[in-house]
Amino acid sequence: TRTFFIGGNFKSNLNKDSLKELVPVIAKHQTAADVVIAPPALYLLEAQSIVEANNSKVKVAAQNISGKSLGAYTGEIAAEHVLDAGIEWTLLGHSERRSIYCESDEVVAAKTVDALQKGLSVILCCGETEHQRFVENRTKEVVTGQLGAVHKALEAANLVDKWSKIVIAYEPVWAIGTGKTASTQQAQDTHLEIRNWLTTISQSVADATRILYGGSVSAANSDELAKQADIDGFLVGGASLSAQKFLPIIDSAK
Ligand code: 13P
Repeated sequence: TRTFFIGGNFKSNLNKDSLKELVPVIAKHQTAADVVIAPPALYLLEAQSIVEANNSKVKVAAQNISGKSLGAYTGEIAAEHVLDAGIEWTLLGHSERRSIYCESDEVVAAKTVDALQKGLSVILCCGETEHQRFVENRTKEVVTGQLGAVHKALEAANLVDKWSKIVIAYEPVWAIGTGKTASTQQAQDTHLEIRNWLTTISQSVADATRILYGGSVSAANSDELAKQADIDGFLVGGASLSAQKFLPIIDSAK
């Protein structure tokens, strides 16, 4: 059985004051789900100290890492820094990293290897564009290609057993921040395709890996999405910035 998992990706939002208001409310909220919040890098330490001060089960994640070791990489944060802050998670391969910051499948794969080698757990994002789904009809190929690049890199690094440290977030690009959620059926269908692809690694990886849905998740659609057999949680953007919107989504955990 897969524990329901809810990620809050704050992206490049909030400030000191709003973070100090929001994070304790999330940290104190009682739920059986795994909850992980990803604040902007500058606030990782603050967020971590708030969840610790509240003895909370909530975990903190970086939104990205350099994929390099410590060294001359101006502007970057290494896995070592994240771990040094007492943080166990990082997001990788978010569509905004891929499209705005030109991270290829291979870069995302290399960052995933680096994170896992150093001991971080990874929320690995994948998802197709509107054109790829609706014009080219290539959703499955795109998504399994993104995940396949990671698997290939894990094989090369002898890290296939580290799939147990990966949570997949399926985020159709056309549903991110648009208010256009994938329909429950579209989401479930793609999650099942991902699950089927995971069986090519092993049945146990397919059974154990959580597959989150992301893209305009709100309290209005989360209950219905959560009921689907292959939806094991959510990665929430906009709605994670307000306790009033985020807590009901956490409560939709099955
Ligand atoms: P929205 O929930 O704002 O659509 O963002 C989804 C997302 O990109 C989470 O990583």
